Amino acid sequence: MRNGLTFDLLHTDGRARLGRVTTRHGAADTPVFMPVGTAASVKALSSQDVRELGAQIILGNTYHLYLRPGHEAIASFGGLHHFMNWPLSILTDSGGYQVFSLSALRRIREEGVEFRSHLDGSRHFLTPELAVDIQQALDSDIMMALDECPPHDAPREYVEKSMALTTRWARRCLARRLEGKGALFPIVQGGLHVDLRIRHIEELAGSDWPGMAIGGLSVGEPREQMMEMVDCAAVRLPADRPRYLMGVGTPRNLVDCVAMGVDMFDCVMPTRNARNGSLFTSAGKLSIKRAEHRLSDLPVDERCSCFTCRNASRGYLHHLFRANELAYFRFATIHNLAYYLGLMSSIRGAIRENRFAEFHREFISGPMGE
Ligand SMILES: [Zn+2]
Repeated sequence: MRNGLTFDLLHTDGRARLGRVTTRHGAADTPVFMPVGTAASVKALSSQDVRELGAQIILGNTYHLYLRPGHEAIASFGGLHHFMNWPLSILTDSGGYQVFSLSALRRIREEGVEFRSHLDGSRHFLTPELAVDIQQALDSDIMMALDECPPHDAPREYVEKSMALTTRWARRCLARRLEGKGALFPIVQGGLHVDLRIRHIEELAGSDWPGMAIGGLSVGEPREQMMEMVDCAAVRLPADRPRYLMGVGTPRNLVDCVAMGVDMFDCVMPTRNARNGSLFTSAGKLSIKRAEHRLSDLPVDERCSCFTCRNASRGYLHHLFRANELAYFRFATIHNLAYYLGLMSSIRGAIRENRFAEFHREFISGPMGE
């Protein structure tokens, strides 16, 4: 294990990669999707539910856990794994993205970023060192270096300055990491500029990172531009280390980005969409609130064998959703995560058997290829 993590690249098919990321808490087969457990919970599910779905690694949000219940409180339980009874790997973000997207009155300085909590308006100062201290208190297996995430329409000069700051912050994070703690990934920024993305990868390359993340995408930019950025970045990241694309995305985006050589993903889409009534199926997206499902005794997806599809009809879920019954959220979240995790399993199978290009083509022309 080097710097908290081992990556085994097992097979490649075109640019798509089959691998395994091993942390202090176990292995995850890549390409992997990480369900988002923002506040020490994958919303509506128990850690047991998430394990039974076959997830091997989940994501926790540093910003949320720092504000509530506080990293010291979680440390007193022996870390986030013990607190939420999740024994496998946990990746945490740096808190940077939420500071820039959720909090008010943020002020960025060389030392760090000052912000007000979105919960109670209290004032905080997040430095690169504190971001690592928080993540180490949580006992995260894969930590993210603090980055600045500029808006997608920020002027080029701003993106350049911000990128340089993110590099300096990444080095400060690395200096703060304690031996024996989780792995630390830097985050490649550079906005929507190919040359800046490339330059940032070169700037970061000087240090011995166990893996690298691509950040600042899926923040409102057109899909084509996002893909162009992933394309130019993924191919230049070290081949012997995992590549993590943050916050992406739709099933189609996952398949497209695997084709570009990305290994790790997280996104709130399956869990958030579930709560909003949008379910992913092998026949396309299904809106459970629509009247056509009221008397349907079909499962959500006839080709899915998840707990929900074995135990609840569309008609029942339609009723639970309309009545705002809490059980709906669990049923729907289980199914959508089963869809995402099943998709990743199919992707890995296709790479293993050297038929990923064919899988990719079929997926794009299929009902979820939008
Ligand atoms: Zn299902």
